Formats: sequence, structure tokens, C-alpha cells
Amino acid sequence: MANKISTTKIIRNFERLSTFTNQVKISLINTIFSKDISNIFDSMTQLQQIISTYSFSSKDRFLTYVKIDTQSDPKSITSPSTEKQKDLALLLVNELHDLGIFNAHTNEYGYVYAHLESNVSEEIPAICFCAHMDTSPDCSGFGVKPIIHENYIRKDLILPDDPTVIIRLNEHPDLQEQLGNDIITASGNTLLGADNKAGIAEIMDAVAFWQQFPSVQHGPISIVFTPDEEVGRGTDHIDIQKINAVYGYTLDGEKRGHLENETFSADGFTIKIKGISQHPGFAKGRMESALKIAAEIVSNLPMLKLSPETTEKMEGFIHPIDIQGHVEEAQIDFILRDFDTLKLIEYGNLLKEITFNVLKNYPNSTANFIQTEQYRNMNEILKDHPLCISLAMDAMKLAGLTPETTSIRGGTDGSRLTFMGLPCPNIFAGEHAFHSKEEWISVQDMQKATETVIYLANLFTSNFHK
Ligand SMILES: [Zn+2]
Repeated sequence: MANKISTTKIIRNFERLSTFTNQVKISLINTIFSKDISNIFDSMTQLQQIISTYSFSSKDRFLTYVKIDTQSDPKSITSPSTEKQKDLALLLVNELHDLGIFNAHTNEYGYVYAHLESNVSEEIPAICFCAHMDTSPDCSGFGVKPIIHENYIRKDLILPDDPTVIIRLNEHPDLQEQLGNDIITASGNTLLGADNKAGIAEIMDAVAFWQQFPSVQHGPISIVFTPDEEVGRGTDHIDIQKINAVYGYTLDGEKRGHLENETFSADGFTIKIKGISQHPGFAKGRMESALKIAAEIVSNLPMLKLSPETTEKMEGFIHPIDIQGHVEEAQIDFILRDFDTLKLIEYGNLLKEITFNVLKNYPNSTANFIQTEQYRNMNEILKDHPLCISLAMDAMKLAGLTPETTSIRGGTDGSRLTFMGLPCPNIFAGEHAFHSKEEWISVQDMQKATETVIYLANLFTSNFHK
């Protein structure tokens, strides 16, 4: 009841929460005057106290998960692309059962679904937390030997199994902020797999927390772990009806405090060239090699702009990723990327223009073009869901972080989920130097991510108290 709360306490708590968005503040005020719960400030203070005494399990879980090889395969046509991803899926289902989440299950495609019941009386929609189980095909994930570098003192980390692999402080500036933390790396022969087993461990730890402290309020929570994110197929067989949530959050981002609400928009672009084949001994004036046409098209791409190696931040690019062929036929595959979806059309038109210019010297050859949508900038949808973003930002503040929205020069499962009707920004997981032997993460960042998940679920629930 409002009149039982001391004025000093309200003011003190309001100051602490003063940076919160108006929407959350209003819901907090509503809660104070609501009839049946003591007040949100008390509950938030209590929650902070509970978390401060909680013995996090994310590190131990993470150390277990990274030892399971879950590398996905872009050439595979099966789902999941590699059967071994199911090893982790089964382990996670067993762990969820051990935690008392008996509806947890996996399916033929290797997805893991679990659903935590709401522990409040009000009808509240579900939110979803999501992470991917596979690791990148770019670097081996077989026989990962995680190493914990305790109490980090800002120095280069030399990995013992291959001392040429050195995680240099000057190449990894975020290490500057890890003084005294415990850094986990691989041993030099493999990636670590923090991308995205950190996200899985953090979500699993939050589930363990909720099960251990059933008095901490949360509405219904859907958990989904996907296969094949790294090969762009993480949502191919996802069951959005089963998730049945209003907001989703992937935990697959880098630096603590970051929330990625913008991704590239992405298209694939293929040029198929038909040349003229002749016996090379009798080809004068007649042969038009499709292979040479393809090479000319690639060499006519802009040299100083619009490529991955010449762009950063919000700049887009045209990137040839594969070229195949022989004299008669050739094919070039590109990826087109920009935060502005309309630019993808411009990039396609530029490729057509370059091709037609090259073909002027090959009058009997032809080309055709196929532009295919891959994924879209999630911010096109997320901008209409400010609460989805602000709650995550407020949760990070409660976890003691300085939140920041950022953009990602790539896509996530969340990009596709957002366009499938589940607005889904990407919360930091603490992963660094993805897809490489230099990958690292700190135990303390993982704990902050778990805290963020717990606060977010609590804030979301408060927001629906009327
Ligand atoms: Zn990832």
C-alpha cells in the first residue's frame, strides 16, 4: 500500500531509477498504487539483494558446452546441417529437466524449446530468450580446451597449444576494461565457441535462478536454442507459434551493455554468364570466354569503396564470394549489404551496369541476374516497438551497466525472427573475436548478461501490473 512506504525510501529509489524511461516509471507508479503487491521498489531492491548473493552457474555450464563440437556446415543440405549439434541439444534438454522444466524438448531439426510458467496471477504475455548452438564453419570447434585466465592484469594472452596465437591487448581494446576479471580463451588450436554458447549458458543460468528463487516475479518465458545460425539457417524450421511471445531477445552480442537493434539488410546477387566456346586452336575472332568475362566484371568493381575491406560503421558493400565456370558458362555470387534496404537495389543496378559495360567487348555473350532477399534490418520493425528496447536498456541499468544501442554489420537469428512477427533485438553475451582462435569472454560479463535477463523479465512483468 502506498501510504505504508516511507517518503525517503520512495525518493531514494526514484533517484536510483531516475534514468528510466517514462513508460517504465509510469508502470512503477501504477504498481505502487496497485492493491496487492507491496511495491516495485521494494521488490527491485530485494531482487538486487537476491542476485548479489546468487551463486552463478554460467561459467561451469559454458565450460561444459564449449567442449561439445557443434560446428555447422554451409554445404550440407540436411537440417540441422550437422548431426552433432543434436548432442548439445540433448544435453540442454536434460539440464532443463533437471531444473524442473519438464516441457523442455528437442526435435528432428535439433531445436530446443522450453517454457517457464508465469509465477504471477495477472495474465501476462510471454517473452522469449534465444541463443544458437552451432559454432562457425570458419574455425575448428573440435576438441576445444577452454582455459581460464583468472584475475586478468591487462597483458597479452599467449595460447599454449599454439604460441603464435596471441590475444594482444592493443588489438582487443575491450580487454582494457577487464582488469581483475576472469577471461576464458581456447588453447590455440580451435575457436572457443563463446559465440554463442555464452548466450546459452547465460539463459540457462537465468532459468536456474528463477527455479531457485520462485518468489522473483516473472511472466511466461519461452526459451529457444537454434541450430545453424552461423550458416544463415537458424530460423528455417523455427516454430514461431510454439514460442508464442510478444518480444524476443537473442543473447549473441559482444560488449557488455550493448543492445543491437539494427542489422544490415542483406541480398544475394548472382550473375550467370553465357560465353561462346570454340576449340582453342581455331578460336580466333570467335571465342568469348565466360571465365574471362567473369574475371573482368570482378576487376571492374570499385577499388576504394563499397567493399568489406574499405568500409566500416554504417557503410554498405558489394562483395564477390564465389566464382565458378569454364569457357562456355560462368557464375559469380555476391553478397550485398547495407543498413538502408533501398541501397541494395542500387548495388544490384551497379553490378548490372558493370556487366553490360564488360559485355560490350563480347557481342555474342549474355548475362542474366538473380537478386534474392536474405534478411532485413530489424530496426525497420523494432522502431515501432520502443518498449521492447527500453525494457532491455533499463534491465542493463539495474545490472549496473551503462547501456548503449548499437548496430551490427551482419545479421542475427533475431533479424529473421523480427520479420516473422517476433521483435527481437540482440543483447550482449560478452563474446569477443568471434569465429577465431583468439575468441575470448569474461566470466563477469557472462554474469552481467544473466542478471540482465533476470531484471528484464521482472521489469516486463511489472510493466503489465495494473
Ligand atoms: Zn552468434
